[in-house]
Amino acid sequence: MRGGGVDVYGCIEAGGTKFVYGAGTGPDDLILDSCPTTSPEATMDRVVGFFRGLGVPLKGLGIGSFGPVDLDRASATFGYITSTPKLEWRQFDLAGTVARALGVPVAIDTDVNAAALGEARWGAAQGLSDFLYVTVGTGIGGGAVTHGEVVHGLVHPEMGHIRIPHDRSEDPYPGGCPYHGDCLEGLASGPAIGARWGMPARGLPASHPAWELEARYLALGLTTWVCTLSPKRIVLGGGVMHQRQLFPMIRAELGRLLNGYVQARALIEDMDSYVVPPQLGNRAGVLGALALAAR
Ligand code: ADP
Ligand code: ZN
Repeated sequence: MRGGGVDVYGCIEAGGTKFVYGAGTGPDDLILDSCPTTSPEATMDRVVGFFRGLGVPLKGLGIGSFGPVDLDRASATFGYITSTPKLEWRQFDLAGTVARALGVPVAIDTDVNAAALGEARWGAAQGLSDFLYVTVGTGIGGGAVTHGEVVHGLVHPEMGHIRIPHDRSEDPYPGGCPYHGDCLEGLASGPAIGARWGMPARGLPASHPAWELEARYLALGLTTWVCTLSPKRIVLGGGVMHQRQLFPMIRAELGRLLNGYVQARALIEDMDSYVVPPQLGNRAGVLGALALAAR
C-alpha cells in the first residue's frame, strides 16, 4: 500500500463463510487479508488485529456485510447484524465494535449494496446513475443504485426473495428458501441448483439442462427488476455466474419476456452491454466497502 499522501481507508467484506479486509486507496493500491467467519469475538480479533498491525492511520472504514443488517440511522441497533440464521452473530454490533476498537468513522451497508458501489466506482457500472448489481451465489441479492445513491428504503431491498412463476410439472423441486420455499432465491441460488440436480452447481457441465432452467428463472427476476426499477445496466455476479454460458441465455430470455414492450435501445439492440459480468471479480465486495468508506 503506497497511500502517497492520499487518504487511506479501511474496508471489510463481512461474509457468512469468510471476512475479507484491507486498506488502501483503490484497486491498484490495496493490501488484503482474510479469515474464516467463526465466532464474532474470534473473527473481530483477527480483523481488528490486521488494522492495528498496519500502523497507518485510516481516514475511515467501510463495511459491506451479510445480513440482514440494521441500516436505520435512527435505530438503537444501527449497524447491527439482525436476524441472521448464524445464531452467534444475531444482534451483533458489527459497525460499533469496529468503530470503538479502531477509533475511526465507520460506514456500513449490505454486501450487495457495497459491491454495487464498487462496480460503480471502478468496475462495470462506471458513469451510470441508475443500475443494478445482483449476486447469484449461496443466496440471491441485489443492490439498486438510483440517482447515484443505493436504495435503502424501509430496511434494504431483498430482491432475491421475489416470487416468480414456478411450473411444478416441469420443475418439481419445491424450492429451498426457509421463508418462502420457491421464491427466486429458493429456486435459483447455488444451493438450490445443487439440491435440484443432486450434485454441486459447479460440477454440472455447461450443456446440462440445469442452465436453461437457471437462465429462465434469472431472466424472470430481471424482467421484474427492469419493469420496477428501470436500471440502465444489470451486473450479474456471484459464484453461479462463473457459468459464463448463462449470460447469452439470460439476455435472450429477458428479450423474449419483455417482448419489445420497454422501448430502450439497450434492451433491443445492445443486450450484450445491458446484462454484464462484474469487472472487479471477487474483489467487488471489498472494493465496494472501500468505496463506501470514501463516500
Ligand atoms: P457467497 O454467495 O457465499 O458469498 P459465492 O458467490 O461464491 O459465495 O456463491 C457460492 C455458491 O455459488 C455455491 O452455492 C456454489 O454452488 C455456487 N458456485 C460457485 N462456483 C460456481 C461455479 N463455477 N459454477 C456454478 N456454481 C458455482
Ligand atoms: Zn425467499
